[in-house]
Amino acid sequence: MAIERTLAIIKPDAVGRGLAGDILKHIHEAKFKIVAIKSLRLTKAEAEGFYAVHRERPFFKDLTEFMTSGKLIVMALECENAIARWRDTMGATDPAKAAHGTIRKTFGTSIQNNCTHGSDAAETARAEIGYFFSGMELV
Ligand code: GDP
Repeated sequence: MAIERTLAIIKPDAVGRGLAGDILKHIHEAKFKIVAIKSLRLTKAEAEGFYAVHRERPFFKDLTEFMTSGKLIVMALECENAIARWRDTMGATDPAKAAHGTIRKTFGTSIQNNCTHGSDAAETARAEIGYFFSGMELV
């Protein structure tokens, strides 16, 4: 199986509730390598750019407001099959439907405030990692 990279975000709800350490523990226990990591706050335009694929969805305004409401922790994670493995580690989008032991089930409070983001495919992972990190930061 190929070594992949995926973009992971600890969202403002989780950072604000002091859950970053607990979520990083899940990441370490699942044996991801953290290739790059930084903390930042998105502008509205930056959040809209990141979620451009959801522009027509009814929750787009709420989602982009939520994602600009506080600091994020953004990471490029690497391991075999990283994209699917990180999505498994997070659990389903809606915490109420996520499997037991997943990050979203354990810490998420709503379908929007679900604590983490993960890329959904190889192409989006490449684009999303490039949205946040320069080539030099990924060496
Ligand atoms: P993901 O790939 O599991 O993050 O899910 P999506 O790509 O479908 O949605 C992106 C993000 O939008 C989710 O992680 C949630 O934070 C948010 N979201 C998804 N569905 C809804 C919804 O029905 N209402 C609201 N308010 N937010 C949503």
